[in-house]
Amino acid sequence: MESSGKTENIIIVGGGPAGYTAAIYAARAELEPLLFEGFEWGGQLQNTTDVENYPGFPEGIMGPEMMVKFREQAERFGTRFVTDDVDRIELTDGGIQKVFVGDEEYSSNSMILAMGAEPRRLGIPGEMELSGRGVSTCGVCDGAFFKDRPTMVIGGGDSAMEDATFVSKFASSLELVHRRDEFRASMIMQERVQENPKISIRTPWIPEEFLAGEDGALEAVRLRRADNGVVEDVPVAGAFVAIGHIPRSELVSDQIATDDEGYVKTDPGSTRTDLAGVFAIGDLVDHTYRQAITAAGSGCQGALDAEWYLRDHSFE
Ligand code: NAP
Repeated sequence: MESSGKTENIIIVGGGPAGYTAAIYAARAELEPLLFEGFEWGGQLQNTTDVENYPGFPEGIMGPEMMVKFREQAERFGTRFVTDDVDRIELTDGGIQKVFVGDEEYSSNSMILAMGAEPRRLGIPGEMELSGRGVSTCGVCDGAFFKDRPTMVIGGGDSAMEDATFVSKFASSLELVHRRDEFRASMIMQERVQENPKISIRTPWIPEEFLAGEDGALEAVRLRRADNGVVEDVPVAGAFVAIGHIPRSELVSDQIATDDEGYVKTDPGSTRTDLAGVFAIGDLVDHTYRQAITAAGSGCQGALDAEWYLRDHSFE
C-alpha cells in the first residue's frame, strides 16, 4: 500500500453537484481540497439532457455541460482531482480520515461524503440487458426517444407520476403500472396523471420480465396481476422504471449512522454526521428534494461546516 505521505485538509468523495460545490467553497477558502470524483464523474446529471430549473441558465443547459462547468470552477480555485473510483473509506471520530484507491492511501483531517444516489431497479429478467434499448430509469432523459410509440411507467410515487406526465408528451400512449391499488404520490401529481387522456392506470400489477423483440430492443413487458396471478404481455417500445433511489453509502454504512434506507444521517440543519470531522451532503443524505440546486446548496454547507471544524481544532 502506497501512502501519499501528506495529510490533506479536506477530502471530498463524489463528483456531482454537491461534491463540486463543496470543492469550490473549500478551494476558495484556500483549503486545497482533494476531490475523488469517480471514473464516471458528473453524477446523475451525466444522464440528463436539458436542465431548465437551475437558476442562472435562463436558456437551460445540458446536464453533462453543466457538470463540466462545475468542475472547471472548482479547478480554477485549486481543487485537485482523483478521477478514479474509491475502493475503501476508513472513518474515525475526530481523527484522520482515509480513502483508498487501488494501492494508494490518502489521509485528511476532514472528509465530505458526496457519493449521491442511484435509481432503484426491479431486479427482473431483461432489465439490465435491455437498458438503453427501451428500458430506462429516467423519463426526463429518454422520453423523447419514444415519439408516437406505446410506453409504460412503473411505480407509484411522485417520480413515477412526473415521468408519466413527461413521457406522455411524446408517446402515443402510456400505461402507468403499480403493484398496489394505492399510490404514494402526492394528490396533485396523481390527479395530473388521472386527467391525462394519453395515460391509463393499471393496478395492482407486478412487472415480471422485460421481453426483447427480434431486433434486440424492448417489445413487451410481462406483468402479473397481484391479486389473481393472471399474466399478460403488454407490448411497449419504452418502459421507465421509477421506483425510487438508493443512496450510495455502501463504503461507509458500517462506520457511520444511516437511516433504515441507507441515507447518511446528519444533524438537523447541518451536514455534520455522528463522526466529528466527517460531513455528508447531497443525495447521499436527501430523501426528498434530490435536485441539482439542493445538492449544490448542501455542498456549500458541507464546505463551510468542514472549514469551521478545521478552524476550531488543532492538528499536528
Ligand atoms: P417513492 O416515493 O419511494 O416511491 C417509490 C414507488 O415505487 C412506490 O410506489 C413503491 O411501491 C414502488 N416500488 C418500490 N420498489 C418496487 C418494486 N420492487 N417493484 C414495484 N414497485 C416498487 O420514490 P419516488 O417516487 O422516487 O420519490 C422519492 C421522493 O422524492 C418523495 O419524497 C417524492 O415526493 C419526491 N419527489 C418529488 C417530486 C416532485 O414533487 N416534483 C418528483 C419526484 C420525486 P409501494 O408504494 O407499493 O411501496
